[in-house]
Amino acid sequence: MSTIAAISTPNAAGGIGIVKISGPDAIAVADKVFCCAGSAKLSDLPGYSVRFGRVHDGDDVLDQAVAIVYRAPKSYTGEDVVELQCHGGLFLMQQILRLCLKNGAVPAEPGEFTKRAFLNGKMDLTEAESVMTLISAHGRQAADAAFGVLQGSLSKEINEISKVFISAAAHMSAWVDYPDDEIEELDFAKLKTDFTAARDRLLALIDRFDAGQAITEGVETVIVGKPNVGKSTLMNLLLGKERSIVTEVAGTTRDVVEETARIGNIVLRLSDTAGIRESSDLVESIGIEFAKTKLHHSALILAVIDGSRPLDDEDFAILKACEGRPSVCILNKTDLGSLVTENDVAPYVSKVLSLSAKDESSFDVLREALESLLGTAEFDSSAALLINERQLACCNKAVDCINEAIDAIDSGLTMDAVNVSVDAAISPLLELTGERVSDAVVNEVFSRFCVGK
Ligand code: GDP
Repeated sequence: MSTIAAISTPNAAGGIGIVKISGPDAIAVADKVFCCAGSAKLSDLPGYSVRFGRVHDGDDVLDQAVAIVYRAPKSYTGEDVVELQCHGGLFLMQQILRLCLKNGAVPAEPGEFTKRAFLNGKMDLTEAESVMTLISAHGRQAADAAFGVLQGSLSKEINEISKVFISAAAHMSAWVDYPDDEIEELDFAKLKTDFTAARDRLLALIDRFDAGQAITEGVETVIVGKPNVGKSTLMNLLLGKERSIVTEVAGTTRDVVEETARIGNIVLRLSDTAGIRESSDLVESIGIEFAKTKLHHSALILAVIDGSRPLDDEDFAILKACEGRPSVCILNKTDLGSLVTENDVAPYVSKVLSLSAKDESSFDVLREALESLLGTAEFDSSAALLINERQLACCNKAVDCINEAIDAIDSGLTMDAVNVSVDAAISPLLELTGERVSDAVVNEVFSRFCVGK
């Protein structure tokens, strides 16, 4: 196993910057680049030791720093780890990282520290995945939900569900393989009840997925409408000065997002605000492929219409683009009177709101509507939560197989036939927690992490 090193703090100047080294030679590498004040060497110290000293390249002193020594297995990665806390200048940290690489470490891949933590059994795959969600959480509920998963809330739920099928499979296999032994006969009615209850727990997780995504990941949102209907005014309402405006941290591997507005517990990812602001460009392009794609890829459409003027063809083109999509039609400028009724537009969109974007109190109207549309109003962030598509796909697959097992019981098929479906249900559940997962899936999960985590 190689010894890896990376800058673990953001790719920017800060008060403190951390260069992290992990692997069998972590302490030896650190001893070559760090000299403790006094005579101690890091390699003489037990785990959880902290020393002040200097980072040096031979006679050339680069910085004063603090070194923290962790000994395997009691570290984040489960390996020997040294963290060098230096002054947080970007150039300086890069110099110190280079020095570590010159002295035997290799650059860490994205997410490699957490990947090693997973491979060394320090956390399961759901817990590892929650680390990125926690890092990118924009609000209290998102952080609470991610922290819950990091603490094992999802693993616990999935393990309890898996147990139902694992013990059923063991029982059925024993029955089939050792017919002469006195193995208790299977009660198919009870099996069906247990399978149904376990499936319903998975369905409850699947049900909460979209709301959880709206809170933890945010909702790709696009604002559309003709020129002058009030799109920019709506944007300003959403991004109001006193409200939270978050700019995505550079250096993470997520999609580039220009602006993120928090409305209640929902994060709206306004993924192409420049385009939205150049409202006339966007509207002129309605009907052309670009705008269609843009609308198609967003998870939520906010269609703005000037309700004080009659609907025209352009308004209808926009409304038609909303059909069948999660969308809110905002009949704006209610203060100027209403020529468009909610019934006129309701057939095209998920929800209609009449408001004035100029009026601050419209923010709450919008918040309530979005929380109810996206199902986040009653969200319990302490309950187990699926935090990404991979986990959702595993649950869906397990549910399909459980339904097959239940069907097999209902149709009076043989125990072998039931067992095949039960086995098939266990696989995606073990894949979800990472207990039985291919290298390709593991690599894919960690490739989405940032370097240094
Ligand atoms: P956009 O071109 O769609 O981005 O529209 P703007 O947000 O720039 O608004 C166009 C004009 O409508 C501006 O003069 C706004 O002040 C005005 N406006 C926007 N919302 C309202 C509203 O609710 N009531 C009134 N009376 N005017 C509004």
